[in-house]
Formats: sequence, structure tokens, C-alpha cells
Amino acid sequence: MKILSIDSYLKGQLSLTRVRTDEGDGWGQLAPFHADISTIVLHRQVAPLVLGRDADDLPALNQRVSEETSSMRRDIQPEAEAERLARLRDELGYTAFKLRVGKVCGHDQDEWPGRTEALVPAVRSAVGDGVKLLVDGNSCYTPGRAIEVGRMLEQNGVVHFEEPCPYWELEWTAEVAAALDVDVAGGEQDCELAQWRRMIHMRAVDVVQPDVCYLGGLTRSLAVAEMAAEAGLACVPHSANHSLVTVFALHLMGAIPNAGRYVEFSIEPSGWTEGLFEPGLVCHDGCVAIPDGPGWGVEISEEWLAGAERQSSAVRPTG
Ligand SMILES: [Mg+2]
Repeated sequence: MKILSIDSYLKGQLSLTRVRTDEGDGWGQLAPFHADISTIVLHRQVAPLVLGRDADDLPALNQRVSEETSSMRRDIQPEAEAERLARLRDELGYTAFKLRVGKVCGHDQDEWPGRTEALVPAVRSAVGDGVKLLVDGNSCYTPGRAIEVGRMLEQNGVVHFEEPCPYWELEWTAEVAAALDVDVAGGEQDCELAQWRRMIHMRAVDVVQPDVCYLGGLTRSLAVAEMAAEAGLACVPHSANHSLVTVFALHLMGAIPNAGRYVEFSIEPSGWTEGLFEPGLVCHDGCVAIPDGPGWGVEISEEWLAGAERQSSAVRPTG
């Protein structure tokens, strides 16, 4: 039974959905309240993943939607990655690099067979022993495979193994953290303070990585950093692009006693963040300064604002 179309009917707080298949159709409903937002998510993120798929296998569809709404490039060959990172070390003085290992939500699979085992030694050989290596598994592994990969990472002097297991499997991650010497890191996806409390309490990770935007702001990120500090854990905020999230992460790290050793500073080009604020963030001798002007220390570009779609919510005048 193939899914052919998804329509939504939005009115006020309600959004009804109609799914058509080659064998018939049926109605559903999105969660009420702010259903306009859910409707956008339905069409933009969910529909492309389920159209044309088999409607009889709902567990598989649910899993696909959950796992494929994040992405990360892993298409670079090990030799090319090693050459690129060695060049950046020479040009900008970087003293640490993070690599992508395994496959995003990969169920123990690699992007292609043998990539991870080839990549890590190739980069280590190219950048030398003086450069710290960190890796990100992006929810790839079961505990047994994560521990195997972790041993290989330890042999190559890797100091940080991020999100080795599906991020929602805290017990799996805790098992890996207990078994390995390399620091296990995680938390970029987590937005519930109660989940953070559990993660820290069970020592699922050695390094916490709140994302200031995903988590809901600086105040909640400070709360996570404080919980981590009380447990003796370091905090390295997730800041995977050059939007304001990296500015937020820099200020967060400057404000806490348990900031980790590195700032996550993307080397990948992202046109959608260009010209967003001034002065832009730059790396000198492997370091990025915390912007030191008033407020966030940066000015939002007037040109960028003029090209943005503005919506406004305001208190209505009374009387
Ligand atoms: Mg990550």
C-alpha cells in the first residue's frame, strides 16, 4: 500500500490530515495548539521521507522519520580529509580537529565499508601527534560496536568520542563511557532538563554538549552546565555552524567554570550564515575570541534584516 499524497487542512488550532494511498485513504490529525507550526514540519520534513513508501510498515516509517531528520556530510575520502586538515593546521593554527565516523543513525554501518578504520589513522598520520583528534559517531553504533571502534580510536590517540550510540539510548551510551578510556561526549540533541539530569546522573557522558538554540536558550544551557559542573563533567557546547549559535556558545563557555578544552568551530562553508553579523568570527592561531562588545558583542547586519521575512507578535492595545 503505497503512500501517494498527504494533505493538511488547517483552521485555527486544528490541522487535519488526509493520507491517500493506492488502496484508499484515511484521515488523521496533528497535535492541536500551534498546529500551523506542525503543519509546516509535516510537509517540509516528514512528507519527503514517507511519500512513495509502504504504508503497511508503520514502525519502519516512524523509524525513518525519526532518524533521517538530521544529516551530516561524510562523503570525503580519508586521504582528502587528511590533506585538508593538515593544510588548515598550517594556515590557521588549529590544534584540534573533529572527524565524522560511522554513519548517521547507521545501525553499526559505515558510510562505506572500512571508511572509519582508514580515516582515523590517515588523519593522525597527516596532522601529527601534536594535534588533538575528536570524532563524532552521530548515533551510529550499538554498545558492542562502539566499544570496538572506541578501542581503535584510543590506539590513535583520539580524545573525544561523541554520540557513539543513538542519542536517545542513554543506557547504551553509559555502557560505552564506562568501558572506554576516551572521553564520551553527547547531548547536542537533548532539550529536556529532566533528560539532562538523568544523563548526568548515570554518567552517560564525560563531556556534555548542550546546543544553546536546541535547548531553548542561554539560561537553560547554563542550568545544564551547572549540573555538569556539580558532577565534575566538562561542557563543550554544540555549535556546528557560523550562525549566532557559535557566538552563544563562546559566551556560554566564557561564563562557566567547567568549559571544555575546545570550541566547536565549523570549517565547512555555509552560505546561509554569511554576512549575518559583524564582526564575523575568525580563527587566529587556532583560537576564536569571545566577542567583547556590548550584548552578544556582534551587530546583526541591516542588509540581512532587510532581506528577511518579518513576522510580529505584540501586545494589543486595550481600551
Ligand atoms: Mg555532534
